[in-house]
Amino acid sequence: MRGKVFLFLALLGLAGCATNPVTGKVELDLLGEEQELLLGAQLAPALIQDALGPIDDPRLNKLVEEVGLKVAQVSHRPRLPYVFTPVNDPAVNAFALPGGKICITRGLLARLDSEDGLAAVLGHEVAHVTARHAVAAYNRQVLTSLFLASSAAVLEAKEVRGRELIWVGGLVAAQAILAKYSRDQERQSDALGLQYAVAAGYSPWGMVETQKVLLSLHRQQPTLVERLFASHPHSSERLLATQRLVEQLPADVVARTPRKEPFLEVTAPLRQVQPAWEAATEGRQLVQQGQPAKALHPLVRAKELAPQEGVIRTWLAVALWDTDQRGAAREEALVAVTLAPRVFFSRLVAAIFSLDRDPTMSLTQLEEAERLLSGTALVPFLQGRAHEQLHQRAQAVEAYREALRRDPQGEVGQAAAARLRALENL
Ligand SMILES: [Zn+2]
Repeated sequence: MRGKVFLFLALLGLAGCATNPVTGKVELDLLGEEQELLLGAQLAPALIQDALGPIDDPRLNKLVEEVGLKVAQVSHRPRLPYVFTPVNDPAVNAFALPGGKICITRGLLARLDSEDGLAAVLGHEVAHVTARHAVAAYNRQVLTSLFLASSAAVLEAKEVRGRELIWVGGLVAAQAILAKYSRDQERQSDALGLQYAVAAGYSPWGMVETQKVLLSLHRQQPTLVERLFASHPHSSERLLATQRLVEQLPADVVARTPRKEPFLEVTAPLRQVQPAWEAATEGRQLVQQGQPAKALHPLVRAKELAPQEGVIRTWLAVALWDTDQRGAAREEALVAVTLAPRVFFSRLVAAIFSLDRDPTMSLTQLEEAERLLSGTALVPFLQGRAHEQLHQRAQAVEAYREALRRDPQGEVGQAAAARLRALENL
């Protein structure tokens, strides 16, 4: 990924000034629109995969896209190539990348109760994009931090502990590249988001209701909204400010009531599996804390509650691996990728757990992983390991060279260099 970092830095070098579409003012340090689009497109796969990949539910995806586009089309930048992606992360979160790539988590979708509430969330994120809040915030430090996160755990695949895998090594810092908005930016996005949602025909009470839900979650389950509140500071003043804005709207707009259907029907499957995700999250935390035997109980329960959830089964596979049930772990990891084919984390775990017994399967999984998120050094490094297992020396050398090229100074690149030296001495 190092190559990409240099690309970003080169892009940032081009940053000069541009006109802010919302204020109409010329601002220093804004990327040009072309660079902004490129930056968003480059970062989106990493952020989507850090949020455990897209949700595979065509009806849900269609609804989120339709609502998002309705709101975006009445915004200050209607012609951006917006993409709205529901992602698997069970935490309550939504985030926007430059250029209009917007994600909303299953945890947040399950807690909204109307299309108007969804329009409010997406309108708020669209506003961060149209007002170009994030663009100036990307700097050298945050961009490099994404790619410097350690992947040491998986370098010795035989000794790998699942708990070191539970957040994909190279993606640990992905969230760090997201902008931390200021309170003023939050106020502006609330006002603009409300304006967009209302112009798209939605009830303004959707935003009021959503902010109430988020504030009460923050009181009851603070860890669930941690990331959202870190990037989007919330407060009771924000809720009051929104209520005041709503009161100033024309009477016929204020009289609009949020539409519960078909939203509640389309999101019903998310709420059905919510208890499974809660149990699984508890299990994942126990694995991460080095208590895999304890983690098995909630993870097995989660699997029983929602056997079709691939990510949950990958977490279970990791707990099985760490309790030395390697065969069962491998089987579970391979079932998981058939259920969650677009999740990089699940592909990577299946590849690593197959390395010893079935390196050909490992290669298949790694090829899919690369398709989902290209440019990590880890994938070619593991390809090298698999080729070594298969006594394919030339392919192993090629793969390690690629890993070294992608990450010349980092741990993965150095591990690849060590393997290259070893192979040359054979
Ligand atoms: Zn915000």
